[in-house]
Amino acid sequence: MPKAPSGWASWSEKRREEILTVDLPGGGDLLCAVFFPADYGIGMANLGIHYIYRALRELGASAERFFASPSPFRSVESDTMIERFPLVLGGISYEPDVITFAKWLELSGIMASREYRESSPRQRPLIGAGGALTYINPLPLSGICDFIILGDGTETVRHLVRVLRGGRSRDETLSTLAEHPSIFVPSLHLTGEHSLAAAKDDVSGDYGRSTWIVKNGVFKDTLLLELQRGCPNGCRFCALTGCFSPVRVRDVELVKRDIEKTLRAAEFSRIGLVTPEAGDYKYIDELLDFAEHKGKGVSFASLRVDNLTERMMKALVSGGSGTVTVAPETGDDRLRNICGKRFGNGDVIEKLEMAARIGARSAKLYFMIGLPGETREQVMSISALCGDIRLKTGLAVTASISPFVPKPGTPWAGEAFAGEKKLKVLFSLLSRSLRGVSGVKPRAAGIREACVEYAVSRAGTEASRFIARNVLSGISYKKLLQLSDRKETEAELSGLGLAFPRFMKGGA
Ligand code: SF4
Repeated sequence: MPKAPSGWASWSEKRREEILTVDLPGGGDLLCAVFFPADYGIGMANLGIHYIYRALRELGASAERFFASPSPFRSVESDTMIERFPLVLGGISYEPDVITFAKWLELSGIMASREYRESSPRQRPLIGAGGALTYINPLPLSGICDFIILGDGTETVRHLVRVLRGGRSRDETLSTLAEHPSIFVPSLHLTGEHSLAAAKDDVSGDYGRSTWIVKNGVFKDTLLLELQRGCPNGCRFCALTGCFSPVRVRDVELVKRDIEKTLRAAEFSRIGLVTPEAGDYKYIDELLDFAEHKGKGVSFASLRVDNLTERMMKALVSGGSGTVTVAPETGDDRLRNICGKRFGNGDVIEKLEMAARIGARSAKLYFMIGLPGETREQVMSISALCGDIRLKTGLAVTASISPFVPKPGTPWAGEAFAGEKKLKVLFSLLSRSLRGVSGVKPRAAGIREACVEYAVSRAGTEASRFIARNVLSGISYKKLLQLSDRKETEAELSGLGLAFPRFMKGGA
């Protein structure tokens, strides 16, 4: 969460540590703040910010980045205060970001409530947002934003820039923005029937790689490279299949060309592959050979156990990473199968043994608790699996435990959320058990944060209005849940034309 300003720090050090990988025009006529509601290191690992910044600059707009920390109200590019920007665009990846965005606006002196801004005589910036959340449910942003870019944004911002250059009044600007099928303007679209749709851009264009190489931080010296958007695997808890389809695969020649182009612009030592599951990318071996030939290490965001190959593991280890990250989700084969992941504990152990033989030193494992129909024995099976892995592979194990959050747009959207009390009990049982296994470290994703995530994920306009008006006095997820009626949210979404099966029957 951003804090109120107390003095300020320049971004000059960060500027010195970044190298642009593309030629971008200087200057620009539209001053536009691109805000990412997390710290700089996390924000710079998000390719969406790289793409939108680049698209705006290529269109001649003067885009500058803002992050929630370390210096939240000054731009990275020039240390300019946020109050100088007539246009603010938030990059909203997941549900709690909505609250962070609203809070940041308030602390920077901009009213987070769209309706308050509309009735204020003061000069008001135009507030927009885009990002991964808009593919799933954009309504949590409707009380905050004047417009919301739905889905992929690199094409849609062309319309935005054209409209903003038109010298129109604020009302004319919003009504012209609303003519685009992927721009949701809450002041105009929340009554009547509309046919909005999240944009799904062609991925064979020029946007597929980092705009900057950063010399420090989590992804230092790393070229982020996108391989695929959407996932065909349809795991029941995951929104990627339902909301980000169709699957779009970038041709390997295009990806290789991206590497070559970046090499001509900047030094980097590693390639970070951005894709739902790297083993699904049909050209993975050819790409790994190419990276090796260029002397570059490779890192993977996540690896699916059932198609993890020796070739991928070798690339990972020789790239300097001694940690293999996989997501078994549970320690129970039957429950995992129900989740949609078709591999057993035996496969997890076999692949991690291979990793250890090749030179990996540690394993990071992602698990969920509070899954539909889960028994206590199934929760404790996580501990048994971690112990087995430690014993049979010798790898240091980090078990990252997150609560299951039923998300709109997934087959499990209508399943019950376990709730704070039950999750605390389950987590404390499990972490006690894990602490007793030598070489295994439990790590918890926040239970409170999961409750907020759940409440925001099903928020409609009423809950969004509540967030916008009350963010500085604190947002209770229980209050949000009271304001978020699943059926009303579903009706509001279908009025917008966002009609694919977001909420399923049953559950709370
Ligand atoms: S969990 Fe992974 S494999 Fe399953 S649908 Fe999501 S991205 Fe695809």
